[in-house]
Amino acid sequence: MYSDELEQVLPLIEISTDPLEEPVAKPVMSQAAEEVVEPVITTVEKSFSKTDNGLTSFFAEYDIPYADILSMDRAIKLVEKAGFKAGDTLTFSLQDSIVTQLSWYRDAKTIIQVTRQEDGQYEAKNVGPEPLRKTFIVDSVIETNFYAALKNDNQPDEVIYEMADILGKVVGFTSDIHKGNRFQGELVCDLYAPSNYFPEGSVENCDLSYAKASIGYGEPSVKEMFRYVIGDEIAYLNEKGEAAGNLLMKTPINGARLSSNFGSRRHPISGYTRMHKGTDFAAPTGTPIYAAGNGTVLRASRYGTFGNYVRIKHANGYETAYAHMQGFATKRGAYVRQGDIIGYVGSTGASTGPHLHFEVYLNGKAVNSQTLKMPPVVKLEGTVLEAYQGEYVVTVRSDFANALARKRWDSLQSWAARGFNALTQGPS
Ligand SMILES: [Zn+2]
Repeated sequence: MYSDELEQVLPLIEISTDPLEEPVAKPVMSQAAEEVVEPVITTVEKSFSKTDNGLTSFFAEYDIPYADILSMDRAIKLVEKAGFKAGDTLTFSLQDSIVTQLSWYRDAKTIIQVTRQEDGQYEAKNVGPEPLRKTFIVDSVIETNFYAALKNDNQPDEVIYEMADILGKVVGFTSDIHKGNRFQGELVCDLYAPSNYFPEGSVENCDLSYAKASIGYGEPSVKEMFRYVIGDEIAYLNEKGEAAGNLLMKTPINGARLSSNFGSRRHPISGYTRMHKGTDFAAPTGTPIYAAGNGTVLRASRYGTFGNYVRIKHANGYETAYAHMQGFATKRGAYVRQGDIIGYVGSTGASTGPHLHFEVYLNGKAVNSQTLKMPPVVKLEGTVLEAYQGEYVVTVRSDFANALARKRWDSLQSWAARGFNALTQGPS
């Protein structure tokens, strides 16, 4: 291969910042010499090649003590777990065969600086820019669309996308939104101030804490979402303490046609009339099948006339089953989330053509998935719900109202200041 040849022919990149600082043999001190010889320090900039697999091979051409390489490696791994990749550049200072300093520009946020200590060990720290956690308050009225409205109010893209992502669970962005509709929200994001690394500054890692959409024609329909922590999970709940979305999907497959309903029917193969305990969706072989809800896979194997069969145990006494699959994309014991691909449409077992046979069980009894009123994914109850509605929702709303009032006051102040300057400076 041409590229391999190239790599062998090209010398490793090695730049000395100052040609006068080339390493030189230590002068032999004569008896007469009285002046102290300044140590010669060379600065080298070198990139990792595709064949370097760590500091040992990277430093192979220098006579650096192995203990030093180990110490540098340990120090670096304490602050940055991701290893070096081809193309990463290290800049280091060499005094004889001792590395006195080393810096690794990993990305705009990660600049690792390694320094040799008095005791000969190395210490590393990330000297990259530190973000601030900043609160963004959204209060925008739709003129044409959601994105344009927030953009017009100078909201960063990250804020707009995070809000759209979470509100998208309860708001249809193409159908529900009309001129004059209003979106409000509070988000906390990492803000990187403008610097050498982020000339424009940067907003990242936004977390929505509260959102309110007043949408539709005429009397607006109001949707609120509150960020709420349940155990290790973050949920977005409405004011009733329910998360958007249902515990189970009614149709765990895309682009399928419902080909046979739940209920008694004449079986296409046996000819007998019998109970059809599921719903059939006709779809091309290989179409992905999704887990209808979060849960644990009880079975993923061949199962008689069902062919390749998956059964999942969900919360609240629900189980779902998927039959006639071509193949599996999960295994017994796996924890799956709603929408994860668990297998593909096929025609295994007693089947007349590619389709998904989908069953829902409630407390062990087969129920009709298409008429079942599915419970929400999360629904707070009892004292938890009381605390949520009585304290949490009230506090979040009033905190937001205060933040919004402050924001309006600030913009009024800056507007007044501009007006005042215009008055005192007169027309230009
Ligand atoms: Zn069926």
